[in-house]
Amino acid sequence: MEWIDLRSDTVTEPTPEMREAMANAELGDDVYGEDPTVNHLQELSAQMLGKEAALFVPSGTMGNLAAILAHCARGDEIIIGDHSHTYLYEAGGVSALGGIHTFVVKNRDDGTVPHDEIEAAIRSDNDHFPITSLICLENTHNRCGGSVLSVDYIQDVGRIAEEHGLRMHIDGARIFNAAIALGVSPAELVAPAASVTFCLSKGLCAPAGSVICGDEAFIQKVHRARKMLGGGMRQAGVLAAAGVVALETMVDRLSEDHIKARRLAETLAALPGLSLDYETPATNMIFLRLDVETPIEGEELVRRFADKGIKISASRAGQIRLVIHYWVDDGALAQVTEAFKELFLHA
Ligand SMILES: *Cc1c(COP(=O)(O)O)cnc(C)c1O
Repeated sequence: MEWIDLRSDTVTEPTPEMREAMANAELGDDVYGEDPTVNHLQELSAQMLGKEAALFVPSGTMGNLAAILAHCARGDEIIIGDHSHTYLYEAGGVSALGGIHTFVVKNRDDGTVPHDEIEAAIRSDNDHFPITSLICLENTHNRCGGSVLSVDYIQDVGRIAEEHGLRMHIDGARIFNAAIALGVSPAELVAPAASVTFCLSKGLCAPAGSVICGDEAFIQKVHRARKMLGGGMRQAGVLAAAGVVALETMVDRLSEDHIKARRLAETLAALPGLSLDYETPATNMIFLRLDVETPIEGEELVRRFADKGIKISASRAGQIRLVIHYWVDDGALAQVTEAFKELFLHA
């Protein structure tokens, strides 16, 4: 059975063009800095994000960790949202491996944290306190429905960081989705941040890899952190080649995923028994909640969809997430729409 997989955009396999580029990639030892394909990917990434330099890492998790390690000393504190990926889903690496304290602030449903709550979290100079050194944002915000932080919001937080001598890191796993949704360049969107990480392995369809961008001195520190974490790869150009194709051919088309998500969401909003959460979709994600009186549960729904060849995911709290990506074509979208109608109109 050919599955339609809506659990995440991480399930995307490389395109035929990527596989060809991977097979033909020029290679070298990247730990020596001698892989021309990795170097090309890093230059292209830095240029697109408007930063001086960039570094290729195996995953987004390592990207965030290496970036935060480069910004902070042991005992420093970072200000971070309670729904953020780094706080929730990265195995507590910043604390376990970096000895870094987290000041957790509440994310609103749109992924933002109110300015005054960020300011209130900044420590004053007092021996009793850890030293605040970094503010972390996430864009698009995964756990908040793929919501988009605006240029204005990021600029405002950037100003707060600057006023207090802090730096700002953006977990931009899906920063291109955010830029496309806003109609601005990724560079403009991350301009106030000292660093940004983005994933090649999600909607951009590369098989693996993320990139950290920042100034030269920062990237040198990140290079050491990557080595320490075991992320130095040798002929990594095989992977970077797919990343180059991703940046060159897969960014602009993300708008197609957003349009498909909107089309599907409009149908779902009209069905009885479920409602859209977090005002989704802002980008490529739809979050659904089953109404209390709906006789079917999340887990049961996952099974019923699996019987129809469609993979979806449900949280313990009964929230369902559908993620649209390159491999969900019009035919697949029609099948998903039909499956929802069958289950909810005739329930
Ligand atoms: C996926 C994701 C990451 C981590 O990426 P991995 O490559 O899976 O480690 C980090 N932040 C956000 C917001 C993500 O969605």
